[in-house]
Amino acid sequence: MKIISCGKKPKEVDNLNLRAAQLRHIPILGESAQERLSELTIGVIGLGGIGSELIEKLKRLFPKRLVLVDDDFIEETNLNRVVGSTFSDAKNRLRKTNLALREVATFNPKQEVRTVFGNFLDEEVQLEFKNCDVIFSSTDNVASRFAACAFGLANGCAVIDVATGIIMNDSAIKAAGGQVIWLTASSNWCPLCSGLYDQREIATGLLDSQELERQRAQGYVHGENIAAPQVGSLNGILAGLAVWMFMRLVSGASIDFDGVAVDALTFTTHAWSEERLSPNNCHYCGEHGSLMRGDSAEMVCRTKAISLPELIPSSNIESLPTRSVTQPSNVAELPVSAMFDLLGLRQYTH
Ligand SMILES: [Zn+2]
Repeated sequence: MKIISCGKKPKEVDNLNLRAAQLRHIPILGESAQERLSELTIGVIGLGGIGSELIEKLKRLFPKRLVLVDDDFIEETNLNRVVGSTFSDAKNRLRKTNLALREVATFNPKQEVRTVFGNFLDEEVQLEFKNCDVIFSSTDNVASRFAACAFGLANGCAVIDVATGIIMNDSAIKAAGGQVIWLTASSNWCPLCSGLYDQREIATGLLDSQELERQRAQGYVHGENIAAPQVGSLNGILAGLAVWMFMRLVSGASIDFDGVAVDALTFTTHAWSEERLSPNNCHYCGEHGSLMRGDSAEMVCRTKAISLPELIPSSNIESLPTRSVTQPSNVAELPVSAMFDLLGLRQYTH
């Protein structure tokens, strides 16, 4: 991990009329929400196709601080979707963190930004997110997206997870779309106990490259890393939806569902809610698990060898429900104004 910028005081630029820049947001957010927003620290994990779209939108909300992480470089294959990237960046293999920093600093030299060149699955990188109020997770790796959820639940930051996908069948598009999910310490579910994320995929994602190859050679890991098709337009739709959801939460709106899926082939969206464990004995989102335990919570990190029982205590494996979802109208009341409920929960201790 290398910290590129440590939230240095940005260069003073005269005559930035922040008030005018916020003016068109204020009727939507409300005056007090705009003020709260300017006090928030927002983390973004993964600065590729979706992450760069998120930053493009988040920087225009003028938060207090942005914390951005990625361990990758710009290549030619990124140019169809990574916002702000140029052929010259690809030629120079610019770090995605440096591109993000350039994009934000060019727009608003007064924006406080911390960029971390590293992988969220490494402990020291996760520690950089300790002071985040909300984390947007947009990597192409289910393990790091789950790690972000586990980190958010343990440390009391809201998590908004954004993903897109296009599945090809020979030369035809079989499926295209994406989803946005959100959770907070008071949500009472997580993508592991709900079955939303595949446990084996999480476990595989936590292997380092050497161990992954060893397990692949032994036949434990199937599937090749085939470069999936990706488009900026779809990333932009889902990133826009995620930031809109965030704005609604900040303005105190009650969102009574856990996720929104976009089917880009039928041009439809639907919101859904996950079924909760009862009683909730999940290691991550259950009251007696790592929920709100802060520093004493176990982080989900990359390790040389991890087996499922290490990731999920066996008692929980038995209790994992078959995946089922309900429509929002059938859902028991969810905690309202979660974002600020959550911020209040920072004082919560077991
Ligand atoms: Zn859970």
